[in-house]
Amino acid sequence: MAAREDPRLIEAQAIPIGEIVDRLAIEGLHRTGAEMIGPCPVCGGRDRFGINMQRGVYNCRHCGGGDGIGLVQLVMGCDFKAALSWLVGEAELSIDPAEAERRRREHERKRAAQERDAEKRRKAAMRAAWEIWQQGKPTGGTAAEAYLLRRKLDLPEPSRCLRYHPDLPYMVADPAGGWREIHRGPAMLAAVQGPKGGFIGVHRTWLDLHRPKGKAQIVGPDGEPCQAKKMLGSKKGGAIRLYTPQGATRLIMGEGIETTATAWIANAWPAAAYWAGVDLGNMAGRRILRGQGMKYAGVPDLDDRDAFLPPEWVEHLIFIQDGDSEPRSTRAKLLSGLRRARACRPRVERVSIVHAGDGIDLNDALMGDYTEYDHVRPD
Ligand SMILES: [Zn+2]
Repeated sequence: MAAREDPRLIEAQAIPIGEIVDRLAIEGLHRTGAEMIGPCPVCGGRDRFGINMQRGVYNCRHCGGGDGIGLVQLVMGCDFKAALSWLVGEAELSIDPAEAERRRREHERKRAAQERDAEKRRKAAMRAAWEIWQQGKPTGGTAAEAYLLRRKLDLPEPSRCLRYHPDLPYMVADPAGGWREIHRGPAMLAAVQGPKGGFIGVHRTWLDLHRPKGKAQIVGPDGEPCQAKKMLGSKKGGAIRLYTPQGATRLIMGEGIETTATAWIANAWPAAAYWAGVDLGNMAGRRILRGQGMKYAGVPDLDDRDAFLPPEWVEHLIFIQDGDSEPRSTRAKLLSGLRRARACRPRVERVSIVHAGDGIDLNDALMGDYTEYDHVRPD
């Protein structure tokens, strides 16, 4: 019998990955949203290993990734069949139907409880994000405006989705449980709006105008540097809608606020809307990666209902490719998002990728490291 036809497979796959993590006694992981992050149980490191509780998968930047059964194989160093036996016991020639049904229900119950728990955490994060957003004030005359000017971003008009917070705490998950404040100070807030326009999350940039790029230097509990930018709440299918003029039919989207605002200021496409996609994963959505050469093929998985889709008025969708990440895989991800838009939005008749140039971030270009706006032309 082939391993993939093993009747125990369905039972093994129904075990929540969190339970497998417990049973494998993987230690040192801390929880951030739907993920658990920490050192890889096999190759160590710091935060290279992650478990996505909702999708039931793990990934190590060094060892690779897979599902719960793959995780057992990785940690125990065993083959697929041995992993199945470890998870659900030896194969039984005849499973008592009543026992099989009891097990199925038990798994169903655990899965439902896990989903309710995830939903509760998601709602709590959105409420916290909304509270922070409400504490923000308009950016005019504040350190947020000064930060944008530092980045040469003299916006043509103030954006309603940007605000200023004078004293925002920076919290990290405490390895001993709960949360710990490791920094506090002025921050730029950006509202993330969901597909229907409602508020779903807040993006925060902690500021320090004494530093060349205006971002705060934040040091974590273990002495490691922390990102000055963080998301709270959801970003699924959302965007930071910097500017949307009346009657626009063209949407220009970069990953970050600065890149997108740079294109807005360059005014490469007059009367276009400029939205930031928050992160590349949101813009790309899930991709089909099985098969040879698919890593760079940029084929979207159209079953992904969470990825960004442009609003109905968009006829021309333009993604800005930052040059400071690996170009081939970045391009594949952007292509995936553009193809999803074409497949799901009949009005989208044109899609483009604009590239600032290898190794160049569009805002770095504006900051004067590279010649002016030559890079901002459509390709
Ligand atoms: Zn590893």
